Amino acid sequence: MTIELKKLTKRFGALTAVDAIDLAVGDGEVLCLLGPSGCGKTTTLRMVAGLEYATEGEVILGGKRVNDLAPRDRNVAMSFQFYALYPSLTVAENLAFPLHADSLGKSEIEARVKQISDTLQLNDILNRTPGQLAEGEKQRVAVGRSIIRDPQCFLFDEPLSRLDVQLREEMRGEIKAVLQGLSKPTVIVTHDQLEALTMADRIAVMRDGRIEQVDTPHNVFTSPTNLFVAGFIGTPQMNLLPATLTGSDGGGKAEFTIDGGQSMTIEIDPRIGELQPGARVTLGIRPRNLEISSDPAEDGISTKIDIVEPMGAETLAHLSDGRHDLRLVTDWRVPLTEGAQVHTRFPPGATHIFTENEQVLRTT
Ligand code: ATP
Repeated sequence: MTIELKKLTKRFGALTAVDAIDLAVGDGEVLCLLGPSGCGKTTTLRMVAGLEYATEGEVILGGKRVNDLAPRDRNVAMSFQFYALYPSLTVAENLAFPLHADSLGKSEIEARVKQISDTLQLNDILNRTPGQLAEGEKQRVAVGRSIIRDPQCFLFDEPLSRLDVQLREEMRGEIKAVLQGLSKPTVIVTHDQLEALTMADRIAVMRDGRIEQVDTPHNVFTSPTNLFVAGFIGTPQMNLLPATLTGSDGGGKAEFTIDGGQSMTIEIDPRIGELQPGARVTLGIRPRNLEISSDPAEDGISTKIDIVEPMGAETLAHLSDGRHDLRLVTDWRVPLTEGAQVHTRFPPGATHIFTENEQVLRTT
């Protein structure tokens, strides 16, 4: 079973909420649709579920075009939050509730409840009511209820958004393990990158109705394909410095002048691409990859330490070259003094060079 979207488009009047997206989600795969508010995630999910009619393009479930099928005929499970349990029903009754609509026999319902409670380890609490459950148990029951109908795929819209921070953390791991064991495609909508990075097999990053990148969490983080993805994924945000190529030795070494005046020389893998002198680029480096040294370095710029924020094991420092704020995350033992001058280094292999035509060059 797979979910395939082909050139799927949704327009609301003049607004294109979802713009010709192509996507395939495989058997047992958990795909997170991740993006800022209003980028079209929920509308995409609703088109898969049949709650919204596609303006153009196709929704294909298990090889079959379902655009014209009503939601109930698509056999998908869409759940908005793992939340509302019926307070007066026991766990077993809550789990069984969605099955009553399917006019199943008593023994069939019992068998399904048994199967789900085995999977989610609910056997010991089947006779309790929600008021007698710990929060984590309630969530497991809610997950169980949303998957008990044995649909061909699962669709979740911000499933963890109402939970407190600690419970979210517990649930992320729990949900991933459960969903991976079910061998069905799952799409989870979230605007929370940590949720996507921890739960997804692959992440589709959306902006303005389009998919900017689809890849594993690791690749989306380490090899963002454009400035938007680079800036959206990662906390603290990747440092992004506008610059111009001002020199090249033809052998891979390139000099960039950062807007504001300072220059630095970094190696570019010549196999990846070429830049013409005068080319406008954005240099990107993650706060944890930025290095500091007491001596000026060819592959860095001089900065002043503006603010030092201890974060426990690490320290976040805001550096400034007079024009740009540069975020540095370093081990807490590294001494940093507000107001002091420090030299930065953009080490080889850690710098991304985003060109104006959205090509990405990486340093060697
Ligand atoms: P959020 O996380 O805020 O829900 P989202 O990424 O899920 O954001 P959508 O809810 O899919 O985004 O909305 C995409 C765009 O379509 C938004 O600009 C939204 O205002 C618009 N939109 C969604 N539903 C409708 C509707 N029924 N009528 C008109 N415009 C709509």
